[in-house]
Amino acid sequence: MDEILGRVLRDAVWERLNMLSELAERADAPSLVSVARSELPRLTEGWRSMLREHEPDDRGDCPTCSTRWRRQKAPCSVWRAAHEHLVAGGLAPQQGRHVLSGAAARSRTVASAT
Ligand SMILES: [Zn+2]
Repeated sequence: MDEILGRVLRDAVWERLNMLSELAERADAPSLVSVARSELPRLTEGWRSMLREHEPDDRGDCPTCSTRWRRQKAPCSVWRAAHEHLVAGGLAPQQGRHVLSGAAARSRTVASAT
């Protein structure tokens, strides 16, 4: 049952992300502004909440990614992903990276989902 619930939960999150990607590609400007105002604060708060759990402890390890037997030095993969997507990636306007075209974004989504 846990496995089924986990699958339902993951599918719902993938669906939501796909819906937001679709909106970003296809919605008209007023709809985009409306979605951005409602969704950007939710996304940023989601990142903050997740990153708080991965703040390094006083030994410089991630308390969430570390186990009793294996310590994970900060920055852990969650912080590296945050930097990649929020600072080095598409959300940083001056970095000059290309926004994926529709087909590339969809194939990337499919690749990520598997
Ligand atoms: Zn971590």
